[in-house]
Amino acid sequence: MTHSTIPVATLGTPRIGPRRELKIALESYWSGKSNEAALLETAAALRSANWARQKALGVSVIPSNDFSLYDQVLDTSVMVGAIPKIYGWTGGTVSLDTYFAMARGAQGVSSEEACAHGHHDHGHGVPAQEMTKWFDTNYHYMVPEFVPGQTFELASFKPVDEYRDAKALGYQTRPVLLGPVTFLRLGKSKDPAFDPLSLLGNLLPVYIDVLRRLGANGAEWVQIDEPCLVLDLDAAARDALRRAYATFAHALPRLKIMLATYFGALGDNLDTALSLPVAGLHVDLARAPEQIEAVSEKAPQGLVLSLGVIDGRNIWRANLPALLDRVERVVTRRGTDHIQIAPSCSLLHVPIDLDLESDLDPDLKSWLSFSVQKMDELATLGAALGGGRDSVRDKLQASADAAAARKASPKVHDAAVAARVAAVTAAMVKRGSPFASRAATQRARFNLPAFPTTTIGSFPQTAEVRKARSAHAKGALDDAAYERFLREETERTVLWQEEIGLDVLVHGEFERNDMVQYFGEQLAGFAFTKHGWVQSYGSRYVRPPILFGDVSRPKPMTVAWWTYAQSLTKKPMKGMLTGPVTILNWSFVRDDVPRSAACRQIALAIRDEVGDLEKAGAAMIQIDEAALREGLPLRTSQWKTYLDWAVESFRLCASGVADETQIHTHMCYSEFNDIIDAIGAMDADVISIETSRSKMELLDAFTTYKYPNEIGPGVYDIHSPRVPDVVEMTDLLSRARQRLDDSQIWINPDCGLKTRKWEEVKPALVNMVAAARQIRAVAN
Ligand code: GLN
Ligand code: ZN
Repeated sequence: MTHSTIPVATLGTPRIGPRRELKIALESYWSGKSNEAALLETAAALRSANWARQKALGVSVIPSNDFSLYDQVLDTSVMVGAIPKIYGWTGGTVSLDTYFAMARGAQGVSSEEACAHGHHDHGHGVPAQEMTKWFDTNYHYMVPEFVPGQTFELASFKPVDEYRDAKALGYQTRPVLLGPVTFLRLGKSKDPAFDPLSLLGNLLPVYIDVLRRLGANGAEWVQIDEPCLVLDLDAAARDALRRAYATFAHALPRLKIMLATYFGALGDNLDTALSLPVAGLHVDLARAPEQIEAVSEKAPQGLVLSLGVIDGRNIWRANLPALLDRVERVVTRRGTDHIQIAPSCSLLHVPIDLDLESDLDPDLKSWLSFSVQKMDELATLGAALGGGRDSVRDKLQASADAAAARKASPKVHDAAVAARVAAVTAAMVKRGSPFASRAATQRARFNLPAFPTTTIGSFPQTAEVRKARSAHAKGALDDAAYERFLREETERTVLWQEEIGLDVLVHGEFERNDMVQYFGEQLAGFAFTKHGWVQSYGSRYVRPPILFGDVSRPKPMTVAWWTYAQSLTKKPMKGMLTGPVTILNWSFVRDDVPRSAACRQIALAIRDEVGDLEKAGAAMIQIDEAALREGLPLRTSQWKTYLDWAVESFRLCASGVADETQIHTHMCYSEFNDIIDAIGAMDADVISIETSRSKMELLDAFTTYKYPNEIGPGVYDIHSPRVPDVVEMTDLLSRARQRLDDSQIWINPDCGLKTRKWEEVKPALVNMVAAARQIRAVAN
C-alpha cells in the first residue's frame, strides 16, 4: 500500500538552542572571550541541528533564513541597507559590529542593563535602535528607522547564504523573508508626518534581487511573512500589498511565494489576501479557527492553502482527531496537492523540547507540546490526511486520550474556585465609596506632605543579590542564611529611604526573581519549566509560567516580607503585588477556558492577598499592571471587550478594602490616550506612570479626560544610567503642575529600580526628594 503524506511545514523554529547555546555564544563574543568565527560556527551548528531535527521528525517543508543572531526584523533592515547614519555604515556588506551596534548600542551596554519588560538602555556612545513588541507576542524586534527619500541596497546575503548552506547539507528549504509591506509598517521615522509605506517603490528592487538570487540558487518556494494582514489596514496599505506582490509576480513568474499571515484572522483583509498573485497562502487557524470556511470557499482554485492548525503561540498538546475532523473536509474540497499543514505561526514563540523537563508533573507533561513535539504532531496530521487515519492510529489515540484526561483532571478543575467565581457580585468589583470621599479619609489618615514622594517597588538587584539567589536555588546557601541575607538587604534599603526623606517606602523586592514568577510559584494552577526558554529579545530569554488549572492562593505570599519591612519604620510601607492582567499576559495561558475567566480567578487569588495585607496593617497596597496595555488585541474592534474584563479583574482584586486603605497601581508606559477610559475605570487611588522621557506631554490624556484620582508621573528615567539633577526634576514637575491639580501629584521614578546600580539610584533619589521640597516651597 502506498503511503502518502500531506506536506508539513514549520514556518520557522526557535533559534536559541535547546541549552541556550546561542545566548552563551553571543555573550561570550560580546565580552571579547571568543571571536567572530566561534560565534558563526555555533550559529551554523544550531541551524544544521534545526534542519536535521525537522527532517527526522517528518517536516517536509523546512524553512531557512528563519535563524537570526539577534532579530529577524533587524536582519531585514540590514538586508536592505536601512541603516541609520549614526552607525557609520558606508555601503557594502554590513559587518557584525555594525549589526550588533544597531541591536545593542555601541559601547558595551550589557544585556543586564535592560529593563525587565524589555526597554533598552541607551547608555553612552551610539544608542541601539528602538525596540518594541512583535505584534501581541512577548518577542521584541528592533524598530526599522527610515528617513524621507531613503534608498535601499542589498547589504546582506544572509537569506541566500543560509539557503545554500542548507542545500549543501542536503536540505531543499523554503527560505523565509519578512514581507516588504509589514517591514515598512513596523518601521518609523523621526518625522511623524512621513509615511514609510511611501518607500515601497524604492524597496521592492532589493527584494526582487534577493528573490532572484534565491531562485537562481534553486529555491522553488519562498515564504514571505505579511502578518500585517491580520491588522486593521487602510486602503493605502492594501494598495501597497497589491503593488508589491504584482511586482514580484511580474519580475519572477516562476518563483512560488507562500504568503504567510498569522496572529489572527484575515477578516476584512481576506479579499485582499486572496487577490494577490501568489502560489500559496498560510492562515492562522489556532487564533482564528472559524476562518477556515471562508478561506477554503473563497480561495481561487490552484492556490495552495497552508493550514495553521497547531498553536504556535501556546504550549498545549493538540487533540489531533478533533483537528482532523475540522480539516479533512477542506482537504477533500481542495485536493491533497493543494494543502499544507503547519503551526499557526513560526514555532519561535514556544520552548524547544518538552523532553528536557524531567521534573514536571507527568500528567501535566502529557498535556503539553513544545516545538519538537509540535513538529511530531504536524507530521502525524500530515500522515493522517495523506495516508489515512489508520496509518497513525496509535498516535491519534494517544493524543485523544491526553485531551480527555486533561479535560477531566482534578489537577485542572477545582470546584471551590468555580464556586467562588460564580459568587462574585457587583459589589465586589466596587470600592465602598467614590474616590473623592476615599481621598478625604486617606488624607486624614496619612497626613502626607503635598507632592508625596515614593518609588515603584524594586531597588537594585545587585550581583550579590543574584548570586545569593542562585546559590540558594542550587542548595549552596541554606534557607536561614538566604533569609538573613534578604532581611539585611531589606533593612538597609528601608532605613536608607527613611534617611533621605522619602514619604512612602517600599521593601525593595530583593526576594523576588521576577514580578510574575514570584507569584506564580506560590499560586495553585501554575507550573514552571527548567528549560522552557523563549526569546524575549536578542540574547534575553524568558521562561513564562504555565497557567494550566484553576487558580487559588493556598497561603499568604507577601505578608511576612511586608510585615518585616513595616516593622523597620513608622512611615507607610507599600504592600507590593503584581496584578492579575499582568500575570496573565506574561504566562502561557490555558486554552480550555477564555482568558477573561482565567484572569478572574487570578484576580480572586490576588484579592485574598490584598485582604491579608490589609489585615496585617498595610495602609497602602500597590498592584502593578505593567502589561495591561500590551494585552490589547491587534484589532481595535476587540479592544473594548478586552479592556472591560481586564479592568473588571483589576477592580475585583483591588476593591475588597476599606476606604482608608489606599490602592496604588503602576504602569510601565505613558501612552494612555486610547485607553484612558479604562484607566479611569480602574479607579486606583494613585497611579504611577512613565513620563520623564516625554517631558510630561503624555500626561495630556489625563488632563483632557479630567482624571480625578492621584497620579505619580515619573520624573526619573530609570532606563538610563544617567542621574537627573534637581533642576531637571523640578522642571518636569512644573510641567506636570500645568496639566494636573497640585493635590493629585505624587513624585516618583518612571519604574522599578532593579536594573539600576546603587551609585545611580542614591544620588537620583536624593535629588528627587530635594526637587519635591522645592516644589512644595513654591507651591505654597
Ligand atoms: N514593582 C515593580 C518593580 O518596581 C514594578 C515593575 C514593573 O512594573 N515592570 O520592579
Ligand atoms: Zn514599570
